[in-house]
Amino acid sequence: MQHSTGKIMKCAMCGKEESTPGTFPMVIGVGRICLSCGMEKVTCDVCGQEVKRLTSSRFQGKNLCLRDHMKEVEKYKQHIVKTFDEDSESVEEILHRSLTDAPLGYTLVTVKRARNSMHVWEAEYEKSEILQSRCS
Ligand SMILES: [Zn+2]
Ligand SMILES: [Zn+2]
Repeated sequence: MQHSTGKIMKCAMCGKEESTPGTFPMVIGVGRICLSCGMEKVTCDVCGQEVKRLTSSRFQGKNLCLRDHMKEVEKYKQHIVKTFDEDSESVEEILHRSLTDAPLGYTLVTVKRARNSMHVWEAEYEKSEILQSRCS
C-alpha cells in the first residue's frame, strides 16, 4: 500500500519543516514558506510598497507585490526572444531574417549574441503598441 500522505515540506526561507503536510502556503517564485516567514515584510522592487511575503512574489529576480506581479507577467508576455544559430546561417542572414521574420505585431528591439554562446544569436521583440506608447 502506498502512503497517501503528502510530503512534509521545508520552508524555502528558514528551512523549518511543516507539522502537517500541505500547511505551508506557496509563494510564487519562492516556494512553500512557513507562516512566520510569510508575515515578514518585503519591499516591492517596482512600487516600493512594503507587503507581507505571503502576498508577494519573486519574478525575474525581483520582489513584487501582487499588483506589480500581474503587470510584470503581462510585460514578459509582450516580450519575445527568437534565437538564430550562426552555425546554420551567416551573421548577415541572421540580421536580415531577424528583421524580416519579426513576429506579427512585434517590433525588433535588438539583435545580439547570446551571453553564454559563441554562435547563438538572440533577437528581441516587443509588442509594437508598447514601444509606440513609450516613445510618444
Ligand atoms: Zn520559514
Ligand atoms: Zn509593487
